[in-house]
Amino acid sequence: MPETAVLDPVADRDFRTFDQPWPAREDVRITGVRAIVTAPEGTPLVVVRVDTDTDGLYGLGCATFTQRWHAVVAFVEQHLAPLVVGRYPGDIGDLIRLARFSGYWREGPVGNNAISGLDMALWDIAGKRAGAPVHELLGGKVRAAADTYIHAGGAGVEDTLDQAEEFLARGWRHIRLQSGQAGIGTYGAPPIAGVPRAGAPYPRGWNVGEYLAAAPQLFARARERLGDGVELLHDVHSRLTPKEAVVLARSLEPYRLFFLEDVVAPEHWDRLPDVRAQSPVPLAVGELATSVSDAARLITSGGVDFIRSHISAVGGLTPAKKLAVLAEFFGVKTAWHAPGDTSPVGAAANVALDVTSAAFGIQEGHVYNDATHEVFPGTLRIVDGWLRPNEDPGWGIDIDEAAAARFPAGLSGHDEWAAGVRGLDGGLIAP
Ligand code: MG
Repeated sequence: MPETAVLDPVADRDFRTFDQPWPAREDVRITGVRAIVTAPEGTPLVVVRVDTDTDGLYGLGCATFTQRWHAVVAFVEQHLAPLVVGRYPGDIGDLIRLARFSGYWREGPVGNNAISGLDMALWDIAGKRAGAPVHELLGGKVRAAADTYIHAGGAGVEDTLDQAEEFLARGWRHIRLQSGQAGIGTYGAPPIAGVPRAGAPYPRGWNVGEYLAAAPQLFARARERLGDGVELLHDVHSRLTPKEAVVLARSLEPYRLFFLEDVVAPEHWDRLPDVRAQSPVPLAVGELATSVSDAARLITSGGVDFIRSHISAVGGLTPAKKLAVLAEFFGVKTAWHAPGDTSPVGAAANVALDVTSAAFGIQEGHVYNDATHEVFPGTLRIVDGWLRPNEDPGWGIDIDEAAAARFPAGLSGHDEWAAGVRGLDGGLIAP
């Protein structure tokens, strides 16, 4: 019987699975991966910077999970950097699969955002090496620009519509309307002043019955004041049961919504095909998807008209471009999530998908403040409601780290509202 050698699991290995598995096309190597956190609007933004050994060549990617940013930073610097330093940055697909599978258990939003930061930074590097914007690497434009929608939200109906009229005058054609209620109020709008239910255990609590009655009144008045020449949208923010969602959708039918967003919480997404079959208005869902597989199932299950993932939460540009292709073949449109808890780099990745995908539907727009433009030179600007991609190599967006340091991150306001929605009885409900 031959003698059996006892292998030392470390010393006797002549390769590591994350070493370069094939010859690199060019002699360029990743030398560092780190996270930069900055809050020029108060919301913590996380951006990953990937450096190389080639003079001046680096990339930026969005890893913004604003409620858990400390954890994302640790993931990037302690788990991702050791995997990819020394590797060729052009092997994006392999590096992203390596990052994903190295944890064995599939990632949630912390890991996916970290991997997204790496992924988008590698696409930025690829663009800079090719001397081309990322949208050309994706196959090139199929449209000149992405049409956007913007948020109008006031305490009262007339306040909301005053804002909407201002946005119409500034060129937008698509406007999301949110109007407040007493107490906690509707998502995306300040509450109406006063505490009208003093006898309730939680007097400021949210009242679903009041909401279901008020929402159609908002849109009836909107059509009176704004006319039929504007597209109107609304975000429920997951607060309804599947049956309540059907009641709301039917009540809004006369007002011809462009889409109705997040009618139920992700725990109830398996009911969406039923809800959609009974809904006379298009449904938009997906910002809370934390895996590309879950987002893909939203598309293939027949539960959505618009897929609106937060692309860093599903792992970055590489998985999101698969969703765009899937959407194209299932007759679903894209509406990528992009309010102020997406960095300008993430917003640029959204637009790269928007202008290259046949499945594009609409892009959520956010007007960044001046401080953000200072921290991130090249940040895209919405003009007359339209977003155009940069034509510089990569994303065409840089970061001024000295400026970023002047806006340190703290506890995000998002933490508070996400855990702050309670009913009149005091019980927490989905935000
Ligand atoms: Mg939303």
